[in-house]
Amino acid sequence: MACNEFSLHVPTLKELAGVLQKGLKDNFADVQVSVVDCPDLTKEPFTFPVKGICGKTRIAEVGGVPYLMPLVNKKKVYDLNKIAQEIKLPGAFILGAGAGPFQTLGFNSEFIPVVQTESEHNPPVNRSYFAWINPVDGGCLLEKYSEKYHDFGCALLANLFASEGQPGKVIEVKAKKRTGQLNFVTCMRQALEDHYENKPVGMGGTFLIQKGKVKAHIMSAEFSSCPLTSDEQVNEWLNFYEMKAPLICLPVFISRDPGFDLRLEHTHFFSHHGEGGHYHYDTTPDTVEYLGYFSPAQFLYRIDQPKETHSFGRD
Ligand SMILES: [Zn+2]
Repeated sequence: MACNEFSLHVPTLKELAGVLQKGLKDNFADVQVSVVDCPDLTKEPFTFPVKGICGKTRIAEVGGVPYLMPLVNKKKVYDLNKIAQEIKLPGAFILGAGAGPFQTLGFNSEFIPVVQTESEHNPPVNRSYFAWINPVDGGCLLEKYSEKYHDFGCALLANLFASEGQPGKVIEVKAKKRTGQLNFVTCMRQALEDHYENKPVGMGGTFLIQKGKVKAHIMSAEFSSCPLTSDEQVNEWLNFYEMKAPLICLPVFISRDPGFDLRLEHTHFFSHHGEGGHYHYDTTPDTVEYLGYFSPAQFLYRIDQPKETHSFGRD
């Protein structure tokens, strides 16, 4: 499988904290960004299989929206253990946002990957979730992947943040009361782009939406049989919901595309109350509260980049 490696610009955590503080201040009333020890992410509410998001950090973008639409390309199936080898980090802890493994599930879904991949010394651990549409009432169904399935598949497209899963220093972001128009992730990404311009900076990690509600989507369980060729048609096919805190989000973002047809930001989330999906923005600016932990990525890997591309369906 084609795989390109690109070295990202990696500022110090202290410098990044300053850039994010400045950017978020324009969009939130109450912002505190600092460098802290990563909290133990094996604990509630995160329940990750590893303690942290540090060590040999990478962003990987696999496939892309062109494999989902205009019409699905069912050859585009992937395996997270193999992806960990492609990015030269067997045993990597991987989180992020992608499409569920229809090759196993038999239907389409939102994938919320939380995986410690296999290494020489350890068997793989799959704590991923998938969110799909209840065929009975059109509501959201959130399931733990490993309760029924034992593979490490994903499909079509994925934006992933990988690391050794080590404890260490990370950037903590607290933001309350949104005063601007940008969502939490876009605001951080734009702050990075404004400051670092043509030097791409990539980040990933996790954030909690502690209070408030968000607009989210879940793809339909059936792939569209008629070609989707505009954002309007895509929005018809998607299913939109308002979902409530507390939500555990898995953001992956890069300040600027160095020429790999990237999706610049992608965030999926799960919860412990049955809601999960793709994050768009909060719908409760006055009450929303975000708490996040982020690491900068050292490398970007572009895996199986579509040769024919388009610009719709990227929101
Ligand atoms: Zn998504």
